[in-house]
Amino acid sequence: MSQRIRLLGIPIDTLTGEEACARMIGFLAGGAQHHVLTPNSEMLVASVRDTDFRRVLQEGDLNIPDSAGLLLMARFTGQKIPERVTGVDTVRQFCSQLSSEHSVFLLGAGEGVAERAADALRAANAQLVVAGTFAGSPSPEDEDEICERIRTSGASVLFVAYGAPAQDMWIARTLKNLPSVSIAMGVGGTFDFLAGKQKRAPKFFQRCGLEWLWRLMREPRRIGRIVTAVIVFPLCVLRYGKNAP
Ligand code: UDP
Repeated sequence: MSQRIRLLGIPIDTLTGEEACARMIGFLAGGAQHHVLTPNSEMLVASVRDTDFRRVLQEGDLNIPDSAGLLLMARFTGQKIPERVTGVDTVRQFCSQLSSEHSVFLLGAGEGVAERAADALRAANAQLVVAGTFAGSPSPEDEDEICERIRTSGASVLFVAYGAPAQDMWIARTLKNLPSVSIAMGVGGTFDFLAGKQKRAPKFFQRCGLEWLWRLMREPRRIGRIVTAVIVFPLCVLRYGKNAP
């Protein structure tokens, strides 16, 4: 069990990317089901008002620190996160280590994107078994059909790319009805990056904690999210610190 810190009452695992993958591989050994989340600054702000989402984040089996803002605010509250661990790097690294005993299902993103993301993951690990891919949608009326697809696929790992909080609420609602799934992880825009639809920021931006600025330049419509991450999140931490509101 890794150490956990708390920000706005949400537990965040303080581990490196390698340790996060090792934890996930370990999850596959037991019979239990695990929800992996990738909290970032906007998700923590959303958890202040949305108590259902807050509970889901609080119950996450592994909450990896997916934004530079979390590292900064951890330090501000006298805590330490060793490094930023992104969803896309974790998915890539985890899938590169997965043996053919297990299989992955890629759910979400635009039409055809999950298939291309699966191709990219298979190119890095020829053993990787892709049990299925489906764009689907997070709307409740599609839930039964999507769950049936996943059950039939027998996948042991499920990546859901509907964006937060929709993807994590979807997992929290459905995981108990997907008995083959040992790990379900909300992965945001990961498939877009793996498929080459979006380009990752140059290493310089990533190292300086400025990946958000790169994404803003490429997708100006993200401005509302950036304001939340860069202004509202620090204000929330200033007010509540480690504790839930
Ligand atoms: N998405 C989807 N269905 C929806 C809403 C979103 O498949 O109804 C996908 C969207 O195509 C994208 C992902 O969810 O692949 C969200 O990506 P975003 O960049 O918002 O996530 P981030 O990486 O910032 O967490």
